[in-house]
Amino acid sequence: MRTYEQARTSVAAAPGRANHSRRTPEPVLHVLQRTAGNRAVGGYLQHSTKRAADSVLQVDEEPESGGADGDFESTAGHGLASPTSVSGGGFGGLDGFAALARPAVSAAAAIQSGGSAPNGMRLGLTTAPSGYKAPQFEFGTVAAMGATAADPPTFTCTPTWKEHMDEGTNVCWYLAAGKHKSITPSGGKDVFIKLSAAMSSLDEQAEREHADDIRQACAISLKEAETVLKDHVVGKTFPSAATATDAQKHVLDAITANLVHAGLGNDQTTWAATYDRLFMKTGLRDARGWHTFGVTGPPAVTATEIVHTVAAGSTSLGATSSADLIVY
Ligand SMILES: [Zn+2]
Repeated sequence: MRTYEQARTSVAAAPGRANHSRRTPEPVLHVLQRTAGNRAVGGYLQHSTKRAADSVLQVDEEPESGGADGDFESTAGHGLASPTSVSGGGFGGLDGFAALARPAVSAAAAIQSGGSAPNGMRLGLTTAPSGYKAPQFEFGTVAAMGATAADPPTFTCTPTWKEHMDEGTNVCWYLAAGKHKSITPSGGKDVFIKLSAAMSSLDEQAEREHADDIRQACAISLKEAETVLKDHVVGKTFPSAATATDAQKHVLDAITANLVHAGLGNDQTTWAATYDRLFMKTGLRDARGWHTFGVTGPPAVTATEIVHTVAAGSTSLGATSSADLIVY
């Protein structure tokens, strides 16, 4: 029997949907299990660690589909996409300026082919930043001879820049209003996804949340470290000490004392990984179903086409700020 889980959910909730409550992943898992079996559920869980965040269309099994398993596995791809898997996605900086992306309209083929795995039901895609760099400094430790041969040397640090931060680059794509051909046909028919202006706007908002999350992750890790180094470390001459280690501890203590987020720590070798760990938290929005769209009802089926019309599904947008989600 064909049912439309998200469509029913949509009807049961307020028509405006703006205040739709947050949902756990269970309904999604349930739909997967009922319609596509345990393989799909396994795929969903595996995909939860992928390095792409996306908006997906949750549809139930299709009338003519003989291989729903593959479709359903791919519709459940969540998390941020690995940078390598999106390098061929057609994105090129216009002028080589490296920066995090803001939402932009892109073709369904690019959105659905990108990310960690192709997904014919993907409506939007934001990838994990690649090429990012944490700021790095040299301690600039200098030994000074004692006043006489009998006096021990002393050590002093005057740190210098080794490398400035780079937030990296990524893509952030959503679908324009209109009828888009999916990359995955079904039962010999072309599959289309139709979005109203309102649904395209929700789709943009979903990807904007990922973009904002990644910026927040950068602000409280790489940028914070860069600012502390610039304002309190690089170019300053720290008090001398009896050993190089003690002299460098003065530098590390200055970093610690000036951090806004203590969780960042004073170890510059960990800052890049901290940024990565923080921006990956944006995938929670997908895992919790906040970016899972539904359909308005059964698809319109003709001799050659299957057309799904997008509904808000279990989406919950604008309810959780980046500052609340991306935390140490
Ligand atoms: Zn998403």
